[in-house]
Amino acid sequence: MAVLWLDEVGSDDLAAVGGKGASLGELTGAGLPVPPGFVVTAGTYRSFIEETGIDEELFAAVDVDSDDSKALAEASKRAEELILGTEIPEDIREGILAAYDDLGDGEAFVAVRSSATAEDLPDASFAGQQETFLNITREDLVQRVKECWASLFTQRAIYYREEQGFDHDIVDIAVVVQRMVDAEKSGVMFTSHPSTGNPEIIIEAAWGLGEAVVSGSVSPDNYVVDRETAAIDEVTIADKKTMMEKDPETGETIERAVAEEKRNEQVLSGSEIERLVELGRQVEDHYGTPQDVEWAIFEGEVYMLQSRPITTISESSGSQAASATDGSGVQEAQPKNDNEVLMKGLGASPGIASGPVRIVGKLDELDKVGEGDIIVTEMTTPDMVPAMKRAAGIITDEGGMTSHAAIVSRELGVPAVVGTGSASRELEDGQVVTLDGDKGTIREGEVASQEEETDPLDDVRPQNPVKPMTATEVKVNVSIPEAAHRAAVTGADGVGLLRVEHMILSTNMTPERYIRDHGADEYIEEIVDGIQTVADEFYPRPVRVRTLDAPTDEFRQLQGGEDEPKEHNPMLGYRGIRRSLDTPDVFAHELEAFRRLFDMGYDNVEIMFPLVNDAEDVLQARNLLEEAGVDPEKRSWGVMIETPASALCVEEMAEAGIDFASFGTNDLTQYTLAVDRNNGNVADRFDELHPGVLKLIGETIETCREHGVNTSICGQAGSKPKMIRYLVNEGVSSISANIDAVRDVQHEVKRVEQQLLLDSVR
Ligand code: PEP
Ligand code: MG
Repeated sequence: MAVLWLDEVGSDDLAAVGGKGASLGELTGAGLPVPPGFVVTAGTYRSFIEETGIDEELFAAVDVDSDDSKALAEASKRAEELILGTEIPEDIREGILAAYDDLGDGEAFVAVRSSATAEDLPDASFAGQQETFLNITREDLVQRVKECWASLFTQRAIYYREEQGFDHDIVDIAVVVQRMVDAEKSGVMFTSHPSTGNPEIIIEAAWGLGEAVVSGSVSPDNYVVDRETAAIDEVTIADKKTMMEKDPETGETIERAVAEEKRNEQVLSGSEIERLVELGRQVEDHYGTPQDVEWAIFEGEVYMLQSRPITTISESSGSQAASATDGSGVQEAQPKNDNEVLMKGLGASPGIASGPVRIVGKLDELDKVGEGDIIVTEMTTPDMVPAMKRAAGIITDEGGMTSHAAIVSRELGVPAVVGTGSASRELEDGQVVTLDGDKGTIREGEVASQEEETDPLDDVRPQNPVKPMTATEVKVNVSIPEAAHRAAVTGADGVGLLRVEHMILSTNMTPERYIRDHGADEYIEEIVDGIQTVADEFYPRPVRVRTLDAPTDEFRQLQGGEDEPKEHNPMLGYRGIRRSLDTPDVFAHELEAFRRLFDMGYDNVEIMFPLVNDAEDVLQARNLLEEAGVDPEKRSWGVMIETPASALCVEEMAEAGIDFASFGTNDLTQYTLAVDRNNGNVADRFDELHPGVLKLIGETIETCREHGVNTSICGQAGSKPKMIRYLVNEGVSSISANIDAVRDVQHEVKRVEQQLLLDSVR
């Protein structure tokens, strides 16, 4: 039997029908209104590969070294050829089509979705199995089922199984075929408050198909309903500019503008809210845990499309509330603030940490840093990253808020104080200290912290999965691939800046030396790997990768550094696109890494050129991109705005074809104000909100808007509320923030956008 009907299966049938199929079957069985459908079982996929005899060749083809991207690409291609190019046995084809005919009258539009059976692998790792085809007819059905099967062997899926040590031949795939609901309205519903767990039902609703709400491309209406009494506590009507719907001619899903009179109309009627609340209670009762539900309304009927447990409700939310009301006023872990402050620096990464000091010198072995130690060093270097991950905290003598130590510790979620001046000389190995990464203090001894053991994801994981929907995208900056996961769980709309410097610096060699010792191919693969880690975490959210930009004084510390030019002022020297255009052979390897990634299907990767001054720089870079086999017309590429010249020449750069311009305010501020960003003597003059800097930014945004070029910020200032207010008011397209600031930035952006809307109607 090629298929099982949804009303025949439930949660116990995961192995046969996969996660999606089991969950839909379970809902159907519970009497909830699920659109009818069937599952082409995992066993059917097995029969297909076994009966046709392609199984052995298939598994042999995909057994490759996952670090070899060329081999990976070939493996995926071969697997796809085998599956798509092999005729499906007649009995299987007939079984699928007969089920389809039973579903409708032979004319139904169906949704075809892959349904993974490897439950113990996180979904994200199985992105290859996320294939979904909407509005499919009889004619294309079997082909689409095969495409779902083939999605088991995308490069990303193969890569992940290899990395996780899963055998390719034990992973199966089922395919759900379900009648399409031509939704007039749709959205999501939380059956309990997603962060407090309170008995409140939260509904988000928009016009048309649900993709718009789920992907966050439209701000939905929001309804808060008391689950017990069904009283509607709060209604927030959003301005719904766009909607998704089925093109009546082609059957494809298209986005279109919402009719003027419906934009600000309330989507759900009272009786529809009532019906949703009823279903919400029913589904939560059925599972016994709060659920996150996708729903749609068609011809007055409410359908449930999917239900998953809400995983974000914190276990302790109940007990915290209890202790707050116990009235004793006694807290056990009261912080004592009387320990002596030994020294101060800049609070570079928030949090409080205590532990024994480990003084790390340039030549020291890093394995002397143990779990829970406090690293104390003159300045961190890229090869310290593994030790920084183990450490409880980091203290440096040198460096500002944009130094290596500050950026990396923030991304790792490790508290840090930088720029103390003398910590590595004054503190002693083994001495126990407490650092406060907010206040920038180092105190003697262990100062009990208010917080219990913290999870490094605590500060970034959104407490409330109802992410504020903002028209301005909020992205995140990443410098080390190790931080990719932390960055992705913030719910950011993508990566606004991925610095490749750290991938290259972590080899501890200059690019030239690395290429000399290991060959160009290994250098290219080093870059491919680093970018791939981040692109995987975020797929399909965009990841903007910046080409190499390290000043010669940073390269000087590495092997091969002795060959670097000696510069009087490296900040004004041989860095960014200048160096790349001057050494096109080395640059070509970086561009080759992009070409390989695009070839591997990473269509979410974007390219950004640093420290450009004018259209001449842009045109030269663009030419090299083309020479490297990357088509600039097809890919999203752009520039950093880091020098006043680049801001003033942005119109010419727009004409040269850039898709986006991103403000690097760390550099734009230093070059506009003539204040070295690393020079403590003038740190008080480093002001990203200086009227001169803002004027350059404002005018650039205006020019870019006129030319259809997206604008963004990826300097540190993108995390500052004042800058956010300024940029959103000027019409910036996106803001990229530090990992730990993403959540606050999302809320600040939303606040400013709502103010703008209010102002426009008043
Ligand atoms: C900037 O200049 O603002 C920027 C983001 O680049 P970097 O800090 O790497 O120079
Ligand atoms: Mg810069």
